[in-house]
Amino acid sequence: MNLRADGKIAIVTGASRGIGRGIALALAEAGAHVVCAARDLAKLEAVVAEIAAAGGKAAAHVVDVSSRESIEALVTATVAAHGRVDVLVNNAGITRDTLLLRMKPADWDDVIATNLTSVFISTQAVMKPMLKQRAGSIINIGSVVGLTGNAGQANYAAAKAGLIGFSKSVAREVASRGIRVNVVTPGFIETDMTAAMPEAAKQAMLATVPLGRTGTPADIAGLVVYLASDASAYVTGQTVSVDGGFHM
Ligand code: NAD
Repeated sequence: MNLRADGKIAIVTGASRGIGRGIALALAEAGAHVVCAARDLAKLEAVVAEIAAAGGKAAAHVVDVSSRESIEALVTATVAAHGRVDVLVNNAGITRDTLLLRMKPADWDDVIATNLTSVFISTQAVMKPMLKQRAGSIINIGSVVGLTGNAGQANYAAAKAGLIGFSKSVAREVASRGIRVNVVTPGFIETDMTAAMPEAAKQAMLATVPLGRTGTPADIAGLVVYLASDASAYVTGQTVSVDGGFHM
């Protein structure tokens, strides 16, 4: 079994902090060259420096995943620099939480553009190099909320549920070409995204997690490294939760 990613070229969006940063560090530790992509260059450079200090390989690339041009430029630059893209981790995401009756069109549009349309664009962009290579692993970061729904997150849940249907469809289209597409659905992970949650709500949520703790970016990264590696060569079209048993 090869759980390594040696020599693989991996793009990770939203790699400047949180889960994306954890994924970038872990993929580099597994031997991949990681293209760390997000909007904040200074934060990306800090992640790249951390990877280099640990003996890994990485580069920073500024991207805005709500822009088609920006995503296409990221993939073009990666292929120009390395001649290939082996792994694409679509991790960048936002929330604009509010109850449906108060949800503004922009709350809906921004979340769908950043969390779902971006994945359509980036997946299309990596198809050409991956089809040429006859190999590739696309890993989309969904959410358990896309499986269960959540009051106040109709926009976010729709985008994350949409990711699952999208990923299964593309997985069927490209399986014969050696390209795999899977979804990782995190539960409650300690990052900036969840930091604002009131303590009482956090405790109530924790009571529903059989493993009795919140998750860390490293908890998500373990599964991502597996899905990026050849150890998962027979796994495609799957949605796998990393959520302490919250949704089973
Ligand atoms: P975070 O807010 O800490 O980090 C989000 C990352 O996405 C940042 O690097 C940010 O710069 C980047 N990003 C946002 N909009 C972008 C844009 N337009 N262009 C480029 N980059 C952009 O969030 P996180 O908790 O690390 O979440 C990462 C992913 O995991 C998201 O897709 C999120 O929906 C998902 N997720 C998180 C949790 C959780 O509990 N934290 C649970 C389930 C799913």
